[in-house]
Amino acid sequence: MDTSRIEAAKRGIGKYIGKPCQVCGNTERYTTSASCTACTRRHNHSSKLKIRELLKQARDGA
Ligand SMILES: [Zn+2]
Repeated sequence: MDTSRIEAAKRGIGKYIGKPCQVCGNTERYTTSASCTACTRRHNHSSKLKIRELLKQARDGA
């Protein structure tokens, strides 16, 4: 287990500094999921765009 993550959880902090992300090198991670904050933000953003596109297609009857 990541000790800094456990420390963050004990202190009630939502984010902690962990191992550098393999994708982007960012070291800030979410305490609950241990996922890279930058990649999560990017992923959420791209998901939103994809969902928006699917909704558009559904409305257009494609
Ligand atoms: Zn990342």
